[in-house]
Amino acid sequence: MHSQSRPLGEFDLIERFFKTGADAMHTGESAHITLGIGDDCALLKPPAGEEIAVTSDMLVEGRHFFAAANPELLGRKALAVNLSDLAAMGAKPLGFTLAIALPHVDTAWLEAFSKGLFAVAKQFSCPLIGGDTTAGPLTISITALGSIPSKKPIRRSGAKVGDDIWVSGTVGDARLTLAALRHEINLTDEDLQSIESRMHNPTPRVELGIQLRNIASSALDISDGLLGDLQHILKQSHVDAQIVLDQLPKSVTLQKQSMAIQNQFAASGGDDYEICFTAATQERNAIHGISKVLNLPLSIIGQIIPMKNEQATIHLLDEEKKPINTNEAATLLKSFDHFTK
Ligand code: ADP
Ligand code: MG
Repeated sequence: MHSQSRPLGEFDLIERFFKTGADAMHTGESAHITLGIGDDCALLKPPAGEEIAVTSDMLVEGRHFFAAANPELLGRKALAVNLSDLAAMGAKPLGFTLAIALPHVDTAWLEAFSKGLFAVAKQFSCPLIGGDTTAGPLTISITALGSIPSKKPIRRSGAKVGDDIWVSGTVGDARLTLAALRHEINLTDEDLQSIESRMHNPTPRVELGIQLRNIASSALDISDGLLGDLQHILKQSHVDAQIVLDQLPKSVTLQKQSMAIQNQFAASGGDDYEICFTAATQERNAIHGISKVLNLPLSIIGQIIPMKNEQATIHLLDEEKKPINTNEAATLLKSFDHFTK
């Protein structure tokens, strides 16, 4: 127990904001966690015949979010971006660890942060199983663990010539929200409200990833921009892609912007956390079926074609399927890079 006169210590803090919430989740849903928070390690027993998928994502103040960011949304996003990586591989969430550096103990901030964190943890049955807590500049690092039946992971390297290229949901709204918040673009309050959750509260496409296990030939989640991220699939699969710019799925709100903004934000705006995947054309019906069941639009944006030169390349086509000039294409293909920005 901590008293009012004594500042909240490291272990009181862990107990109050993280262990209590984690304990509340130890139900039948987390049967694969045999030991959670409290010892030197957590223990995991993966489902029989499955492999463990591991991924980490870090959020740093001033780099990934503003100092004044809403802590509840930050808690949600910190876990959601990790679950998005599990989804892109076809993994089912098992649990996660949280390493957090805090400049000082702000109980209101911690209360809201853990509320957001556990809301997403519950939604995806992914309990908190351990972590580390230290003083320092606000940094949130989560490692998520998932399970995938052996031989079923959806790799970036599996795209085949002739495959369709698909993307879930819509792309570009997180970038449009950022532009509005930076006053680069004026949006009505109503328009901003219709899209801002795409930046602050992304939805990891966990169920889509699981459904695509036997269908997609390759996949990744879009964090740095659709076309830039697609290039990772092309490089690892040794293929080119032909993309029809006009077919990128965009929200009604983004479609109110100029064509130049629409194309740029949809093609290279980051932070969408949709899934880009490839699949053989005979899977089209199955994929439309998944789209219906999940109530999530899935759109074909182009095709995988043979490599034309040594480097994997995206060939951008306009609505008449004519090549887009190289200068315009170069801006659209640029993705976000923390070190070359
Ligand atoms: P150690 O010193 O052995 O690394 P700690 O004293 O840092 O362990 O942590 C004690 C327990 O609390 C461990 O089980 C650890 O996983 C857990 N823990 C520490 N910080 C967090 C956190 N932010 N969220 C969840 N669990 C945490
Ligand atoms: Mg420690």
